[in-house]
Formats: sequence, structure tokens, C-alpha cells
Amino acid sequence: MSTATADVLIIGGGPAGTAAAWALGRADPTLRIALLERGAQLGSGASNASLENYRTAWPAACLMRLMTRSLEVFENADELIAPGAHNALGMRQPGYLYVGFTERQVTELREDVEHLHSLGLEHIEWLNWDEVQRRFPWVGPRVRAAKYDPRAGWLDSNAMIQAFARGTMQMQVLFDCADVVIETEGGRVRGARYSGGRVDAPRVVIAAGAWSRPLGRTAGIEIPVHLVPRQSFTTPWRHEDFPLDAPLLISSAPFAHVRPEAQHGALFGFEYRWNTRQLFPDEPAREHLIDPVMPPERCRDPRFPSATLLLLARQFGHDYGEGFASPRYLRGVDHRVGYYVSRDASNAWREENGERIPVPSQRAIIDAWPELEGLVISVAHVGHGIMSAPAAGELAAAHVLGRDLPCPEFADLGLNVNFVEHDSGGLTNE
Ligand SMILES: Cc1cc2nc3c(=O)[nH]c(=O)nc-3n(C[C@H](O)[C@H](O)[C@H](O)COP(=O)(O)OP(=O)(O)OC[C@H]3O[C@@H](n4cnc5c(N)ncnc54)[C@H](O)[C@@H]3O)c2cc1C
Repeated sequence: MSTATADVLIIGGGPAGTAAAWALGRADPTLRIALLERGAQLGSGASNASLENYRTAWPAACLMRLMTRSLEVFENADELIAPGAHNALGMRQPGYLYVGFTERQVTELREDVEHLHSLGLEHIEWLNWDEVQRRFPWVGPRVRAAKYDPRAGWLDSNAMIQAFARGTMQMQVLFDCADVVIETEGGRVRGARYSGGRVDAPRVVIAAGAWSRPLGRTAGIEIPVHLVPRQSFTTPWRHEDFPLDAPLLISSAPFAHVRPEAQHGALFGFEYRWNTRQLFPDEPAREHLIDPVMPPERCRDPRFPSATLLLLARQFGHDYGEGFASPRYLRGVDHRVGYYVSRDASNAWREENGERIPVPSQRAIIDAWPELEGLVISVAHVGHGIMSAPAAGELAAAHVLGRDLPCPEFADLGLNVNFVEHDSGGLTNE
């Protein structure tokens, strides 16, 4: 059994935990930081299933600022994270292209562009049919108009996590830490014990992704988040018309999306409306889990790759054998699953006729826990925990150190901030 002492203990070595460590180390280089990771390596959670995309165009101001600051950090990663980090991140910036096929979808995209311009995101472009056909002819004639975000792309999330760890000199990382229990005394945290020992620390950050709520219970608290399994798949092949320099292509509702991957492949995602029926056929269906089902692979739906391709083929008008309807896509598929973690109905609702209506929220919760001194949580990073990691880390660090928020809009990422306008900027129908 080993015992260590630290000034701050971080639990969870994914994007949120490693970014918090990096930001703490930058804010105060004298801090001794310890990080407990349950897996055999950093990034053993949802980031493994991620599409690793990033964009600044978020309709809620707090999220827009989070992503804008994060992109600034990625673009200056050598100076701000660690020497060599920029090259390691392998950033590509071909943009995001949201397409519309019907009059209604075209109107919605145009309204989105207007709203994003009003937030100062003037780089978002509106493309009419002629412009889409001129710049992206491979999408085909069915696409009537598009919204294009040129400041978007993707990067290597594992390299990002490693870079945060490398950029935090004064950190001790402990792997394979099973059964972590947060220790408290007299209304404040004291550290944590785990299968191999314990770490004494007056400040603790919970950054354990989908496992944050059960971890919080070890300290006697219920963190208000719930989970939805989300899937992605990589194919080693993509159809000839779909070029290597293509942006992330986001189809219309229900918003299946795809981008080129490596030289000849493609990476697909689709945030369809999920429920527990397949997992628990004998129970009433629910749209969220409270505790993760382990291993998450139990939530993998084998129909997902073919259903996503079928949907895209229908929308883009590809007949059997062409484009997304080519059977070659289904050979050698790598199909992954991970959890999206988001605010639950107690932390995301609005009032209507005196009643609380739950709303889907994209806002992370990055805040000090009010009733337990020394505890900070960085959770509910939904589908953007990679693109938001640097700024989320800086915000978590500000809470740990009791400093001012890096920008006032980040107050909206607090606990019990139940509603902000334009908060459901995900790729779902909700
Ligand atoms: C299909 C899919 C596609 C996605 N696409 C994107 C995208 O394109 N762009 C983007 O920005 N984001 C995307 N995401 C979201 C992104 O992956 C998550 O928001 C991000 O990984 C959350 O980071 P986290 O550190 O909070 O949690 P995680 O990544 O889950 O990391 C948590 C870490 O904590 C460890 N841990 C858990 N419990 C304990 C414990 N008790 N003790 C110690 N360690 C513990 C885990 O092993 C893990 O290493 C996607 C996610 C999925 C599932």
C-alpha cells in the first residue's frame, strides 16, 4: 500500500482530468498534483469512441467562448501546452458542412447562420445551391443549401491527452487504480483511497466522465448527470467522390455525419434517439442511464453502421452500389461506443405555465461543490469534451484555486444553472 500527498488530487485521466492538471500546473507551478486513473492508460473513457472533431460555432455564448479559447490553445499548443504538442495534435481544419435538402431545412440553416453572426461568429458562411455545387460538387445536386464553418476540423484526442500530461511537470499519475473512494471529514475532502493505496489532498477534482456520479456517491453526493451511449464507426474505405480534403459532412435531421479518416477511410457518427429497450427488455424504456452499464460495449447496436449508411444513402439519393450505398463500406468496420454525459433534469429545465420542463442541455458542469469544501467537478462534457478540454481545464483550475472565472459567461457552466438560451446545440432532433 502506498501513501502519497498532493495539493490537488484529480480523479480520471481523460480530456477533462488531464486538462485540469495542465491548467493547474500553468496557474501555479508550485502545486503538487496527483492523478488517479482507473485504466492502464490515460484516456480510457469516452474519448476512445470520439470523432475528435472541433468547432467554434456554438449557439450558446458560454459554449462558444469555451470552444474559441480551446481552439486558441490548440493553435498555440507548443507554447501553451508542451513543446512539440502542435505537431502531435495533427490538427486538420477543412471545416464543417451542414446541408439542407428541403425548404424547411434551408430556412433553419439560414436562421442558424444569422444567429451565429449575431454572436460575432462572422466566419460562418451561408452557401446557396450554386455555391455548394461550385465548392463541394461531390455532395450532389440534392443539397439545396448549406451552412459552412471553416474554423472547424479534427485532431488526435489521444495526443491531446498525452500532451496535457507531458505539459504538467509536477504531476504524479497512478494507473490501474480500482475502487477509488473519496475521503471526507467535517464537511471537506481529505483525499482518496484506492485499491493500491491512498493520496492525501485538501482539494479533489472529479473528472471521471460517465463514472463521476457513482464516484461522487463515495463522498456522499449525487452529481446531477445522466448518460446516453453513443456510437461511431470507422471504415477503411470511402467512395471515390468523397475527397480527402472534405469537411465533416453533417446531413439534415436526424443529423448523421461523416468525415474522411486517414488516407482512404471514413469516420461516421449519428446521435439517434436512444432508449434502454434493447438493454433491459423487461423494464419500461428510459432515454437515459444514471449509472454506466459495464462494459459500455454492451450498448453497441450491431445495426448502427448499416443503419447510418442507409440513412445517408437515402438522403443523398445514392442507389445501391453508389456512394454511401456501396456495400464496400461495411467491410472491416471498427465500431465503437462510449457515453455522452449531460446534465440531468434537475439541472436542465425551463419553466412553462408554472411547470418544470426538462430540456436537453449541452452545457458542461464545471464548478465547486457547494457543500463539500475542496471538491470541484468537471463533468457533463456531452459530445464536446475534446474540443472544449483546454478551456474547461482552465475553468476547473480557477475553481480549485478560488480565482475569478476566466470569462463571465462561464458562470453558465455552474451547478444549478438550469437554463440558458440556445443551449441545445447538439446533433439531435431534440
Ligand atoms: C461516439 C462519440 C463521439 C464523440 N465525438 C466527439 C467529437 O467529435 N468532439 C469532441 O470534442 N467530443 C466528442 N465526444 C465526447 C468526448 O469524447 C467526451 O466529451 C470526453 O471524452 C469527456 O471527457 P471526460 O474526461 O469527462 O471523460 P472520459 O473521456 O470518459 O474520461 C474519463 C476517464 O476517467 C477514468 N475513470 C473513470 N472512473 C474512474 C474512477 N472511479 N477512478 C479513476 N479513474 C476513473 C476513465 O478510465 C477515463 O480515462 C464523443 C463521444 C462519443 C462517445
